[in-house]
Amino acid sequence: MQLGIIGMPMVGKSTIFDLMTENRGNRNQGGAKTNTAIARIPDNRIDYLSELFKPKKTTYAQLEVVDIPGLVPGGEKSASLFLDSVRRADALLMVVRVFDDANVPLMSDKIDPVTDIETILYELLLADLDLIEKRIDRIEANKKKNQMLNELNLLKRMQNAVENEQQISSVELNEEESEIVKNYQLLTVKPLLVCLNVSEDQLVNGYAGKEEVLNYSQEHNIPVLEISAEIEKEIQELEPDEREIFMNEIGIEQPGIVKISRSMYQRLGLISFFTVGEDEVKAWTIEKGTNAKKAAGKIHSDIERGFIRAEVVDYQDLNEMGSMNGVKEKGLFRLEGKEYIVKDGDIVHFRFNV
Ligand code: GDP
Repeated sequence: MQLGIIGMPMVGKSTIFDLMTENRGNRNQGGAKTNTAIARIPDNRIDYLSELFKPKKTTYAQLEVVDIPGLVPGGEKSASLFLDSVRRADALLMVVRVFDDANVPLMSDKIDPVTDIETILYELLLADLDLIEKRIDRIEANKKKNQMLNELNLLKRMQNAVENEQQISSVELNEEESEIVKNYQLLTVKPLLVCLNVSEDQLVNGYAGKEEVLNYSQEHNIPVLEISAEIEKEIQELEPDEREIFMNEIGIEQPGIVKISRSMYQRLGLISFFTVGEDEVKAWTIEKGTNAKKAAGKIHSDIERGFIRAEVVDYQDLNEMGSMNGVKEKGLFRLEGKEYIVKDGDIVHFRFNV
């Protein structure tokens, strides 16, 4: 699964990309190329399990992140490159500049978050409209049009939404329609989060125009999150025990980067199950609703093929008991079959035979 970071130029996209991927990216400064790297999804359950089992290796869930070059207003080439990258992403993080800094050039005459969001959203909506209209024309011209009336009706509803500047994710779909929509490769069905990049002062005291952005995002069903890339950089540079103190001082509970990563992971419909042991404590990523046999296949195809049973412990139970023995004594240890739907936070040991 891939998360694309999008936005206008000079808004803090690369800074947030570096923060999310802890500088693992090979960043081309300001270039027209995309940069890709892996982000760890912070998870305090993994921190706890790692403390408990003291494994040789600890592995967090991951997400691939792509830093997509900024959309240059009015640039046709920029727009087409931009749309290609957006199409490949599974979810989008739109960074919007709210911070003011005379040292960072502005792409327009003033800082205007709502206009920036609109500009980008508009580009995505136009691309979707184009696709929808082509598909409508093709069906209208088809001799078997009468057999495609459901699809035509769906397309017209989507067209109507887009023309009213609403994302396709806001159109209510039944199961059959969801399947059809999946095949279209539309852009405004992808989970989207807007990240307002504010200064420390704005984070604490607010700013002119804040209400306007929040109203806009509510009207358009776009979740928003405020973060200050500058502060996040400072947090990441601190030692773990100093971080708490610093965050307390400025009144934030957890780093914005953690909130972004976790929120995108969730919005992609992803959950984690854990495997534990002396060698490794590891979070495995699956889609919500995955059964035990298929989840086993994430680890190895042999385990899926030779699946016998899954031994499952609820993370919460282990956390309360403080040891695997405690969990066993209380009978909180379960054996599940291949159809069992794995839950977020399940600690799983697969029994298999090949
Ligand atoms: P991009 O073009 O959107 O990828 O933006 P960058 O992440 O490269 O940032 C552009 C410039 O703005 C860089 O010099 C950053 O150091 C600076 N910058 C990014 N975030 C902030 C912020 O929150 N506050 C301030 N003052 N500068 C920032």
